[in-house]
Amino acid sequence: MKPFAYTRASDAQGAIQVVTRERTAKFLAGGTNLVDLMKEGVEQPDRLVDINRLEMARIEEQPDGSLRLGALARNSDTANHSLVRTRFPLVTQAILAGASGQLRNAATNGGNLMQRTRCFYFYDVNSRCNKREPGSGCDAIEGFNRIHAVFGASQQCIATYPGDMAQALYALDAVVRVRGQEGERTIPVTEFHRLPGDAPQQDTNLKHGELITAIDLPAASARFASRSYYLKVRDRASYAFALVSVAAALDVEGSQIRQARITLGSVAHKPWRAAEAERILTGGRADEATFRRAAEAAMQGAQPYEHNRYKVEMTKRAIVRALTVAAGGGVNA
Ligand code: SF4
Repeated sequence: MKPFAYTRASDAQGAIQVVTRERTAKFLAGGTNLVDLMKEGVEQPDRLVDINRLEMARIEEQPDGSLRLGALARNSDTANHSLVRTRFPLVTQAILAGASGQLRNAATNGGNLMQRTRCFYFYDVNSRCNKREPGSGCDAIEGFNRIHAVFGASQQCIATYPGDMAQALYALDAVVRVRGQEGERTIPVTEFHRLPGDAPQQDTNLKHGELITAIDLPAASARFASRSYYLKVRDRASYAFALVSVAAALDVEGSQIRQARITLGSVAHKPWRAAEAERILTGGRADEATFRRAAEAAMQGAQPYEHNRYKVEMTKRAIVRALTVAAGGGVNA
């Protein structure tokens, strides 16, 4: 591992100043992804600014009824918080589908959003990878691309976003609160991650030195509490990244769907809201025929590569199954 300087931050503004000033400095929270990447030589920061002692770990209801998840709240604490479990069980399910108990105890909400792709070639420093080394090429496009994107890829990069929690946040229209040298701003979570385009080295729309302080779940999204489901399809039953995943949330009256949210995971460089599927579901009957039409619409325009063609049919089936379970009242995680 390349040597690096370590700074323990005692206040957010000081941490932001140090990272903003130093081009290769990074914030350190749980470190469950960043430290791994440093060991592999993929990430090589000259300085880590440890933010673990900052006061950003609370989970609190806000006056407008939204629920604020502190960026430093651990994933386990978030998943098991009573207000998250009762109002936003989709978040609980998604978090508990990821990683292992030990990792969830260390990983933070902010860090969860910041985790980097699991593309094999990104981790292998002997491979060509535009994300790790801009301009070097992409060995995945002609290589073993079983886990790669079927939507939104570019000639530069076909990687996928690997997380679980974010799919739930996208489906529930969460908002990310960030702070930088110029003050605070909010970013709708659906605009937080980027597609690769010509700059695959940039995973998000955060500016260098901006710090995630919290994630807000809007009060209105609690309407999906009783009919939501996170389905993760993977090679083994636990401690594996998704081949595809579906965060499904329905607001149903009688047999009619008033509102629907579908976010797909592991199909693109960011969680992928299936807007056309949501349009078909809204106003439709909550039955298998509607779910199948929505699934077909969701996968229209998919562009698979040599080894990931299976994702198209697998995702359709996962959508139907997730919607069926959600419509039936979901499950308790
Ligand atoms: Fe790198 Fe992206 Fe290509 Fe993977 S798909 S090798 S992350 S450029």
